[in-house]
Formats: sequence, C-alpha cells, structure tokens
Amino acid sequence: TRILLSAFKDFCRHSPRMPGELYDSICAETVLSKMLDIIIFNVYLDADKKQKLLESSSTAEKVELLSTMLAAESGILQLEFGIQEKVRAALDKNQRDYYLREQIKVISNLLNGEAEDNLTESQRYIEKIEEAEFNEKITEKLLSDAKKLARSSPNSPDSNVYTTYFDTVFDIPWNMYTDDVLDLKNAEEQLNKDHYGLEKVKERILEQIAVMALNSGNSKANKQQIICLAGPPGVGKTSIGKSIAESLGREFVRISLGGVRDEAEIRGHRRTYIGAMPGRIVKSLIQAKTMNPVFLLDEIDKLGSDHKGDPAAALLEVLDGEQNVDFTDHYMEIPTDLSEVLFITTANNANNIPRPLLDRMEVIELGSYTAEEKYHIAVEHLLPKQLKKHGCVTKTGKPRIKITDEAVHMIISSYTKEAGVRGLEKKLAKICRRAATKLAENGKLTVKVNPKNLTDFLGKEKFRPELAGKQDETGVVNGLAWTSVGGTLLPMEAVHLPGTGKLTLTGSLGDVMKESGKLAVSIVRGMAAEYGINPDFYKENDIHIHAPEGATPKDGPSAGVTMTTALISALSGIAVRRDVAMTGEITLHGKVTAIGGLREKSMAAYKAGVRTVIIPKENERDIAEFDEVVKRELNFVPVTNISEVLEHALTRTNIAKFERPAEVTANVSEHLNSQNIAVTPVV
Ligand code: ADP
Repeated sequence: TRILLSAFKDFCRHSPRMPGELYDSICAETVLSKMLDIIIFNVYLDADKKQKLLESSSTAEKVELLSTMLAAESGILQLEFGIQEKVRAALDKNQRDYYLREQIKVISNLLNGEAEDNLTESQRYIEKIEEAEFNEKITEKLLSDAKKLARSSPNSPDSNVYTTYFDTVFDIPWNMYTDDVLDLKNAEEQLNKDHYGLEKVKERILEQIAVMALNSGNSKANKQQIICLAGPPGVGKTSIGKSIAESLGREFVRISLGGVRDEAEIRGHRRTYIGAMPGRIVKSLIQAKTMNPVFLLDEIDKLGSDHKGDPAAALLEVLDGEQNVDFTDHYMEIPTDLSEVLFITTANNANNIPRPLLDRMEVIELGSYTAEEKYHIAVEHLLPKQLKKHGCVTKTGKPRIKITDEAVHMIISSYTKEAGVRGLEKKLAKICRRAATKLAENGKLTVKVNPKNLTDFLGKEKFRPELAGKQDETGVVNGLAWTSVGGTLLPMEAVHLPGTGKLTLTGSLGDVMKESGKLAVSIVRGMAAEYGINPDFYKENDIHIHAPEGATPKDGPSAGVTMTTALISALSGIAVRRDVAMTGEITLHGKVTAIGGLREKSMAAYKAGVRTVIIPKENERDIAEFDEVVKRELNFVPVTNISEVLEHALTRTNIAKFERPAEVTANVSEHLNSQNIAVTPVV
C-alpha cells in the first residue's frame, strides 16, 4: 500500500489535472484491491496497459505493475513540464511587454484622452533606435530615455524635452558619408579656378589631398595636422576653405568662433537646463547632413573665455585626432564620431590663438595683396561674379558693364584701403547696381566705366595714396607700421624747442612706443658729439615727438629706429631722405633688432613710393617671402646698429657715399644751405 500511494502521489504532483480530493479519498481506503481499482479507474493509461493490469493474477503483481507504470508516466510528465516552461518563458517577455504597454495605454487613456500620443511616439522612437544599429551602449541609453518618454505625461515639459532630444538624435546623419574625390588634377583646377595667386596655400592643400589619396581607406592614417590659414580680413581664407570642400566633393560648413566665450557654445548645454541645445559642432553636423564634411572654424584667434568655462578647452578635444572619435556633446550624452571631419581653421593673427590649440595646427600665412594682385583678382574673379549676380550679362554671357583697366586701378588705390579684397568687391557690386539702373532706365546695351565717370558710380574718392614726403626734411622720418588692414607708412616727427628738458610724446602712442621715445633720447645723448648736437640738449630743450593721424592708436617697439633717427635729425639739423623708410626695434646701446610683419610693411613702402627700406639684419631672411614686384623695385638695407641706419637715412652722410638723383641732390643742397650746413660734394 505504501509503495502504491507514494507512486500515485508523485504522479499527482506532475499531473495538474488530478483533483486533490481523489488522493485524499484513496489514502482513506483500507482495502488494497479497492485502492488499486480506484487508481486504475482514474488514471489515464493506454488500453493495452490497462489490459495487462486486468490480466495480472495477484494483487501484489498488480501493485508492482501499476507502480512502475505510474513512475514512468511521472517521468514523461516532468519532462513535458520542463519543455513547456522554457517555451513559455521565451514567449512571456514579449507578451508581457506588449501586455503592459497596452495596459498603460488604457490607464492613461482613462486619465487623459491624449495619452496615446506619447506611447505611440516612444514606440516610434524605439523602432528607429533598433533600426539605426547603434552600438550596445548607445542603444541602451536611448531605449531608457524612450521608456521615460512613454512614462511621462503628455504636454508636460519633460515629454517635450524628450521628443526634442530624440528628434535631434535622428537629425544627426549617423553613418552617412560622402565619397571623397581624391583627384589631384581636378583639385588643382578647382583651386586655380576659384583663386588667383595664393601659391603657397594651394601647394600645401594639394599635398594634403595627395596624402589622403595614398591613405584612402585607412582613416587612422589620415589624421594629419590641422591647417590654420592666418592673414588679414578679405584675403580669401574662407573662400579657400569652400574650394577645398568642393574639390574633395565634401559638404562645407563655416563655424564662426568670433566672440564665443562659453564652453557650452561648442559642447552644448546639459539637458537639465531649460531650452538646452546641442553645441555648434553637433549642429553643424546636422547642417552638413554627412559625417565627413569640411568644417571651417573661422576666427579661432577671437575665442574668449569667462566664468562659464573655456571654449578653447572644448575645441582641443574636437581637434584632437585621438580624442574626437567619441566626442560627447553635453546635450546629446552619446558619443559622435568626428574623426572623419576635415577641420580647417582661420585666424587674423596666429599669435592670438591659445597656445595648446596652436600646437595642434600648422599655420599657413596669407599676406596682404599687392595692387597688381588685386587688379587680377578684380578682373578675373570678382567682377565676373558680381556681373552675373546683378544680371549684367547678355544672353550669350558677354558683360554689359565695361570697366577700363585704369578705372580698376583707381578703385583699388583711391576707394579702398585694405589688405584683402572685400572692400574692392563691395565697390564693384556698387558699380554693378548703379550701372544696372542705367541699363534698365535707358535701355542701353552696355555701360562703360572709366576714371572720368567713376565718381558717378562711387562718389568722391575716399583715400589719397599715402606717399612719402616730396622733400627731404629735418625731423621727419618714414616709419613703417603693421595694422590689421596691412602695412602702412607711419611718419614720425620730432622737434626741439627752447625749454627745460621736457619730453612730450603724442599721437595716441601706447606704452611701449612711449618707452621707445625715452630710449631714443638716451641713445641720442650718447651720440650727440658725432652729429654735432649740443650735448646739453636734454636740459636746455623741450622735445616733442609726434606720430600723425593722431587719433589712430599705435603701439609696439618697431618704431625705435624711426624715433631715434627723427630726433637726431631734428637736433642736428641734418635732413632725412624722403625716399627711405625704416623699421626696427632698438636697444639702449643702439643695436637694431628684429621685428614682425615685414612683408606687409615692405608693401606699404612700395606703395608709398619709397625706394630704400632699412630693415634689421636679423630680418634679412624674410626678404625671400616678399612679393616679386617689391623685391624687384625696392632696395633693402639690412643693418645691425643705429649708426648704419643714420648713414643710409641722413642726407649729409649719404651725399658723400651714394649717388643720388640730381633733383634730390638739388633739394638737399638747398635745404642744407638754408640751414647753414656745409655740403660735401657728390662723389
Ligand atoms: P577672409 O575669409 O580671408 O576674410 P573671404 O574668403 O571672405 O576672406 O574673401 C572675401 C572675398 O574675396 C571672397 O568673395 C573671395 O572669393 C574673394 N577673394 C579673396 N582672395 C581671392 C583670390 N586670391 N582670388 C579670387 N577671389 C578672392
């Protein structure tokens, strides 16, 4: 009885269909044969098995047979149950999710009629996330946000934040790349088509494209130094960037960094802030619609920084080839790969770029244009562009406005004063507008612009060419200065008056320049005897040094030699050659040391009609980079000390050593005679 009961109990446990009372009533049965009958009657067994039981002769045999059968059935039931469990578990998760979602839908429907939106929306995002094949981490993060969206109540600020966030995520052009056109010939043609000159820049860009072509398919190897185009405004930095993008077949986006002070501008605001947005880098990717555009980071030298963080630090990460593979915007919170973006930066003055950023870049200097270059740019590029823009071409493509060469030169010299060609382009646009009115009014076929009628189009001329003085004078020296619009001629004047030794410096001079003035006085005291200057001049005279265009602020050490020369000339009464210009820093012992911006300064000297430029010996190697015309037309005199400067700049000493044009000599002689200075005959 015990064996039979135990086997039946086991069977009941695995067979959910067996009612519990049955087991109880069987336990209550005391006669074994009856117990056997009840069990056999209630258990489902095959007919032949039941037949066997019927045929067994003794009760003991029946018990043995039935116990074995029940054990076997239990085993099968157990196995069946295990399999079912597994299948159910797999089905359950999907069903459960579906079921729960449906439940939330109904609940929120009851709470608020519109709840369905959030759910369908989150479901839509979930599908998109699954489609987008992000890596595991990103997928997990986005799914968790999608779930939060589903739970948030509709029209709440939270749900708004999530939907804006997801829209931004799917605006980013994940996995969209354009194929690079790495054809050197094509690139060269494109660059030459868009820009006149700029040989050095074009060469460097072609080098980069060549390396990209050799490394194509190996993006790791393509991590080259970032190019920084440095130069004054309007010399074509931005438009070269555009040409590069065009020749590579990439999208182009310009990111202006001027005045950016907040790190969040680059890297975005955290989502917790109201109205948070991604930074400019991510926004630009969205704008570009590809993950490998050309980004032109404009005016990187004008980055600021304040208590809201340092944007330069964020840019460091953006520009670093090792780190920008997983650049993470604060708003996005998921990494975006910037490693395929081609970065180009521009600056007006490379020295103002934060040092760590500068270390990651290769600076290519773009100098200011000569008048000749401006002429070519105007005729070959700017004018055709403006004519087209203003509809001033015939159907066959012929220009309806003709500007003579002289008029173009006049626009350059009398209506613009700039290192680049931006102002020139504006003037040409103005001519096109005026001419368009004339063409429309009079029904004329073409309009001619020449120097005579130029004022009709542009008004009175704005600038007179800066020219060196007409005569050699005492106490006036042609200095040279570097400004943001290129080089200029900066005359320096000095006078001495009876007085008590006061030194006055005027002309909006900065501290460094004022110190140069004091330095000049000390140097002159040391040299007074050589030039016949009253050794007590610093006690008996007031000295005044002035730099004209008094309202324009000026600073820097490079006027040292100019001031000293002006002072010596004023005190000694020896005139300074009008066709000489000079630049150089000076030490207390009269040594002349190196200065910057010489290329621009030399061009200013050339434009002003100067023929000889005195430069520090240390700057001699810079001459190789000057423009061809400047090199051809100007005579550069490298010097190491102030005596050499004076030797070349003062008239009297020069007269003995250099042949000078007759008319200059006549002037000088007249001048010197008037000052009672003995003139040495010309050798
Ligand atoms: P930057 O960025 O240096 O301030 P831009 O690129 O804006 O200057 O140039 C101003 C304008 O001058 C643009 O229309 C550009 O096409 C034109 N430009 C500048 N340099 C050249 C050049 N060498 N050849 C043709 N056009 C030029």
